[in-house]
Amino acid sequence: CGIVGYVGRANAVPVLIEGLTQLEYRGYDSAGIGVLTSRGPKVFRAVGRVRDLTATLPSRLTGKVGIGHTRWATHGPATEANAHPHSDATGRILVVHNGIIDNAATLRGRLTADGVDLHSDTDTEVLAHLIVASDAESLSDKVIDALGQITGTYAIAVVDADRPGEIVVARQGSPLILGVGDREMFVASDAAALVRHTSSVVHLDDGELAVVTADSFRTFTADQTDTGKQPEQIELDVAE
Ligand code: GLU
Repeated sequence: CGIVGYVGRANAVPVLIEGLTQLEYRGYDSAGIGVLTSRGPKVFRAVGRVRDLTATLPSRLTGKVGIGHTRWATHGPATEANAHPHSDATGRILVVHNGIIDNAATLRGRLTADGVDLHSDTDTEVLAHLIVASDAESLSDKVIDALGQITGTYAIAVVDADRPGEIVVARQGSPLILGVGDREMFVASDAAALVRHTSSVVHLDDGELAVVTADSFRTFTADQTDTGKQPEQIELDVAE
């Protein structure tokens, strides 16, 4: 029931794990991370606690872009296959999602009829397939295309191995904020995951998306209207 993301100069892996640990209080049954490494996208997932996920990670896992998730299962049991991130058939698109896609059964049926193999029971997985199937040029336009086909609630973070260096996020009914660092950016469900890194945050509103890179962020709506959000300073005690 939490999302984290990192894009910057540092290794994303410890930032994601630490962020997921800070979100543990929200409750969850499984966890996972997806990292764009120099050898392509890598996904690690585990049922149980964040420390069970950490136990599966190779010691040298590094990448400057990544997303992470703690899952509170709504569609399909708490299994490794149902844990996020979810990906398309090629593994190029990675998606983490909090919320519920109401028309997932219809979309799963349509994808299966189109010959797409589904690898999980989740509502979330359809997003990865819809995003990769979009013929839009940019990742953000692909995400807008995919979101246009779903109904329900979401906070999502998406990366594309063919466009490393950016994370696309969107919010509808589930919380999502950006953290603005020094040549690095963070994404999280709430400020608890960010306060160790930055006090400069951007709260997304329902219906808003953002493209986040190490040096920039842009907020907009699905009809491509810039919303021009600026960072706010937050004051929070850093829990020990
Ligand atoms: N509906 C999604 C699932 O069951 C996301 C659940 C969540 O918010 O963690 O996998």
